[in-house]
Formats: sequence, structure tokens, C-alpha cells
Amino acid sequence: MENPVPIQPHVPQPRRRLLAWTAAGAASLAAAALAGCSETAHAHGAGTPSPSAEPSDSFSPAAPVNPSAAAGLPTPSATATVAARSKPVYTVRDLLPNAPGDAIALTIDDGPNPLYTPQVLALLRKYDIRATFSVVGSEAHAHKDLIRAIAADGHTVANHTMTHPQPFSKRSDAQIQQQIADAQSVIVDAGAPAPTLFRSPGGDWSPAVFQAAAKYGMTPIDWDVDPRDWSRPGVPHITEKLMAARPGDILLCHDGGGDRSQTLDALKSVLPALKAKGFAFVTL
Ligand SMILES: [Zn+2]
Repeated sequence: MENPVPIQPHVPQPRRRLLAWTAAGAASLAAAALAGCSETAHAHGAGTPSPSAEPSDSFSPAAPVNPSAAAGLPTPSATATVAARSKPVYTVRDLLPNAPGDAIALTIDDGPNPLYTPQVLALLRKYDIRATFSVVGSEAHAHKDLIRAIAADGHTVANHTMTHPQPFSKRSDAQIQQQIADAQSVIVDAGAPAPTLFRSPGGDWSPAVFQAAAKYGMTPIDWDVDPRDWSRPGVPHITEKLMAARPGDILLCHDGGGDRSQTLDALKSVLPALKAKGFAFVTL
């Protein structure tokens, strides 16, 4: 990033904390989440099973946790719970053991974004590639048409929390569950199938996060190729990292949370080049 982002001290903000999950709240949270994604070091892990090394949290209020907000949300009894895992999925075969040997998975996080998501979708359509979009609930609520467009093109929609709070694992159990439940609700409301995959903000995992994901029927997914495109390191850097992918890798990119023009430019050359190398793109 061009300028180090000052880590702002946590200042309790009761207004947001008490904000119930409502449409008005969604608009407010959407703006806040966008600010958070673009201004913080959005630190996804570096492909190793460890939490993000540089969590930043200038967008600090956690999800609104209000018992009344749970009304109408998917409940464990309404979804197929799965067994909690002790680590996330890092490679295609961790999730899809019968995937072809040349399978590779592209995951695209933090959208949907009205500027970048349509361009990414057009690019994927051009090269007949299906990907997995880890969407933020507040953005999904604000751009339901894009959620429908992602699903209509055959891509998978994964749950990436309601407002992308970091460090996610440091939230209370109730907040973690509310973040996941709220996002699940708005994604379904926007018109996508109920996600069965969950990606934690920053790849920040804990037993509580695994349990919450399982409670709502979701498998935790991570990645093993990280070009750190969120930090805008330059198109050549992003391209080089993505082109180093090996069979079975899960690639991480972003279409939301800030200026993603470098990501888009890199994908324009990377997608056809990876196809030319013989990779078969699969959704997770
Ligand atoms: Zn993210």
C-alpha cells in the first residue's frame, strides 16, 4: 500500500454496536465495510495454515448482535449442519478428492463491487471459466443484482461474513455466529443458493469460527496461492504469483474492498495463460 494505514485505537461506538440488522443498518454497514476493506491492510494469510500476520482493524465495530436480529435468519435446524473441521480447505483436493489432476480453483473475495465485479464476470465468461466468489453480506445486500449475475453465470457464492471484521477470530462467539448468519440471510435473499462454503476475513481461523461455520452447514475454505493483490503490488507481481500456480491450488484474488484495477489487469493475461498451460478451472 502506498501509505501505511494508521491503526486506529478501538473506540467503542455504541450506535453501531446496538444497530440491529435492518435495511437501514445494511446501508450503513455497507459503507462502513467498504471503508474498512479499502483502508485497512486487508491481510489474507500467505497460504500457510496460520492467521493473518497483519490484521488491521480501522473498521472496528463488530457485527450488530441483537437477539431480535436473529428473527428470520437461517437457523441450524433449517440448514444442514456439518461436522466442524479443525483446519480449513487449502487445496482443491482437500474439498474435492476426485477432482481432475489439473484442477485449479480461482476464488474472488470482498465483492460484489459495481465497478469491478461486472468486469471480472465478463472476463470469466470470455474464457469460459467458473470461479468461487466469497462475498461480503453488506455488499451483497447493496448489490443484489450482482449476486444474481454471479450465480446465473454458474459461479459459486461463498459466505465471507456480513461486514468483514478483522481480526475475525477475536470476536465473541455470538458475534462470529451473527456475522455468518446475517451474511447467509442476505445472500439467499439476493437470489443465490445458500452458501455451503465459508471464508474467514483474513484467513483468520479458530475453533469458534470452525464451529460457527459448521453450525450453518458450511465448510471453511482458505487458499494456497496469494498474490496479495489487495495491497496493489503491481500487475507484474500479481501475474507472476498467479502464474506460479500448481495443479490443485486455490488462488486468491479480490474484486471488492478497494481499487482492484491491478487484479483485473493481471487476470486479463493470467486466465488465458493458465488455460493454455492445461489447467482446468473448477468451482469449490
Ligand atoms: Zn476478504
